[in-house]
Amino acid sequence: MTEQRLTTDVVIVGAGPVGLFAVFELGLLGLKCHLVDILDKPGGQCAELYPEKPIYDIPALPIVTGGELVDRLMQQAAPFEPQFHLGQMAEKLEKLNNGHWLLTTDLGMELEAPVIVVAAGGGSFVPKKPPIAGIEAYEDSSVYYAVRKMETFRGKHLLIAGGGDSALDWTLNLQPIAASVTLVHRRPDFRAAPDSVEKMHALADAGKVKFQVAQIAGLEGADGKLSGVKLKSPEQGEWVEPCDTLLPFYGLTMKLGPIANFGLNLTENLIAVDTEKFETSVPQIFAIGDINSYPGKLKLILSGFHEAALMAQQAFHYVHPDKKLRFQYTTSSSELQQRLKVA
Ligand code: FAD
Repeated sequence: MTEQRLTTDVVIVGAGPVGLFAVFELGLLGLKCHLVDILDKPGGQCAELYPEKPIYDIPALPIVTGGELVDRLMQQAAPFEPQFHLGQMAEKLEKLNNGHWLLTTDLGMELEAPVIVVAAGGGSFVPKKPPIAGIEAYEDSSVYYAVRKMETFRGKHLLIAGGGDSALDWTLNLQPIAASVTLVHRRPDFRAAPDSVEKMHALADAGKVKFQVAQIAGLEGADGKLSGVKLKSPEQGEWVEPCDTLLPFYGLTMKLGPIANFGLNLTENLIAVDTEKFETSVPQIFAIGDINSYPGKLKLILSGFHEAALMAQQAFHYVHPDKKLRFQYTTSSSELQQRLKVA
């Protein structure tokens, strides 16, 4: 059953730095983009793994943090009005009779376009699952590794586990709509932003959140329905904390994921491309950034930027087979300046 089908010029899988810069390069040529990313924010590794670390090898930016680079790329792409579909996994790719590609996400969103750009980096970010015996039986009915829709958790008795930003942010955001919230972390110290930790403690002092220093020892329930989580700590021993929903936030790891089934030539989980257009073994499908492989490839952000520029030239011909592409500079072309909304 089709939930929604949207048609555009280019669908980009991955909103990391390279996917974002591809929006800019394609936009300069007048092409519109939709992007899909499993993360709930753009920026890929820069946003998820090192937002506060300085990067020193971006041309003309002697020092820029991962987070600031993403902000700047978003600003640069903004005139081209990219459409983001975040928190969704690009799951299936099929060729249509009209020569276009149809990309379907795990939320049922359908995106149709003549060109697909795979900018999937080291793969999709997927949650690290806690080593709890029998947890699979409760997944998607009582155990969730991400919050896709807050409404799912209205009126629920939540047990949130973890000490990073996700655990703390969701404790704060879900507390007003949940029936109860218990936060469990193995230590009293947190990796999360100090401000969030302070807010959580204030809620705990007000009796609105229960905070437990403990480890998860097991699950209680039947038929996929959780009735409680077994906790243990050196001080309190073992006990069952009643709840109907468990949200473990133990960090993310990167896996190639469904792209392996897109029918592309893969070598050691990388997509082989040519170095003229960065096109894959399948026409109209390009791969740029960390996900691709070619002789001499350097897994650097600046390499991905260059690949995006060359990819866009060929993508244009697929979208407008009847049009000629004129090489133009942004400094002197009024057409490009109009597209950039600076003219
Ligand atoms: P990514 O940043 O990996 O983004 C890919 C995106 O695609 C992800 O958000 C992922 O969730 C999404 N995705 C993948 N598959 C799917 C799917 N099926 N559905 C939905 N979404 C999907 N590089 C430098 O140039 N200079 C540096 O100083 C530097 N320092 C680094 C420091 C650290 C700690 C790390 C980890 C990396 C560093 N890098 C550096 C490398 C740099 O971050 C990568 O080269 C860059 O992020 C690659 O960009 P990308 O857009 O190709 O992929």
